[in-house]
This record gives sequence, structure tokens and C-alpha cells, in this order.
Amino acid sequence: MLIAARRLVDRLRHPRSRADELAGLGRRFAAAPSPEIAGAEAVALALEMRALRVELSAALAGATGCTRCSRGHPLPAGRWDGGHCCSGRTEQIFTEVEVAAISLAGTNFLRLAAPRSDHAGCAFRGPTGCSLDPADRANICVRYVCVDLERELRDDGRWSEVRRLRAALAKAFARFTSLQSADHDP
Ligand code: SF4
Repeated sequence: MLIAARRLVDRLRHPRSRADELAGLGRRFAAAPSPEIAGAEAVALALEMRALRVELSAALAGATGCTRCSRGHPLPAGRWDGGHCCSGRTEQIFTEVEVAAISLAGTNFLRLAAPRSDHAGCAFRGPTGCSLDPADRANICVRYVCVDLERELRDDGRWSEVRRLRAALAKAFARFTSLQSADHDP
């Protein structure tokens, strides 16, 4: 019922394409495993990844490359100056495994606010960047570092800490993914 109400609000509030992507994401959240089904190890990994997303995002704060990387690109990436890596479709970013990880760590789809703007890429991408807290983003959102961003982080001395956190997040995500795959094996 609450999901249906959210879908209605999204239809009134957003361009049709964003509302459709949000509806698809809502279905994915509804299908995500409960903590009882996923098991204690998966829940512990989900919480570990949530903490790492926050820590890694703080370590990346203020990177200037992310504010201008889309400038001059064709649509949808070029709609706004930043966030080129956010210009993919929502369902390709929030895969089933990503949604399972976020959901098990406590994120509620109904509380994920999308920007009131044109839809250009991920449903949560807007003119000022991402509308989600790092804790609620997909792991790939925080872990992905393009060549230009890596260069900037090397130049300002942050790269080794960012690399350490990315490796920890990648390791936890790989283990989480293997648990999810095992759950789906016949
Ligand atoms: S959730 Fe945020 S960071 Fe991730 S792709 Fe969407 S706009 Fe970008």
C-alpha cells in the first residue's frame, strides 16, 4: 500500500521516465531478502559496507573533478556539469545484489528522495549531484573512481587512504555477492 502511494506521488512529482525507474527500484526493494532469510553473515557484511560507504565518501569529499566531468557531453550525461558516472539507468546501478546490501543495512526505499528536476541518468542525479546520503547509495557509486579522479587524489595525497577503503569495500561486496549467489543456487 505504501509502495503504491509512493508510486502515485512519484508520477505526479517527476518526469515519467524517472517515475518509471523509481517504480522499478521499489519492486526490487520489495523483493530483497529479509535479514532472517539472508542470514547473520550477510547482514554483518551489509552493515560493514554501509559504514565503508560513509567513510569512503568522506575521504572523497571536495574532489573538484566530479563537479565538471560531464561538461560538453551528449545527453543525458551533459545535462549537468557533474556526475558523468551517474548518467546510467537506475536499474543498472541498483542491481539486485546492491539493493539487497542496502536494504539489509537498513535503507528504506520509501525514504529515498529523488531530485525535482529533469531526469538525466540515474533517478537520483540532479543539478547539484546525488540526492542520496552515501549510506543509501549503491556500493559502486562510492567505490568507482575514474582516471581523472584518481589523478586528482594522487596529486592531493589522498589516494592511498581511498585505495585502502575501496579495497575493503570491494572485498566485502565480493563476499556478500557470493552469499547471494549461493542463496539462488538450486
Ligand atoms: S545513486 Fe547517486 S551517486 Fe549513485 S549513480 Fe545515482 S546519482 Fe550517482
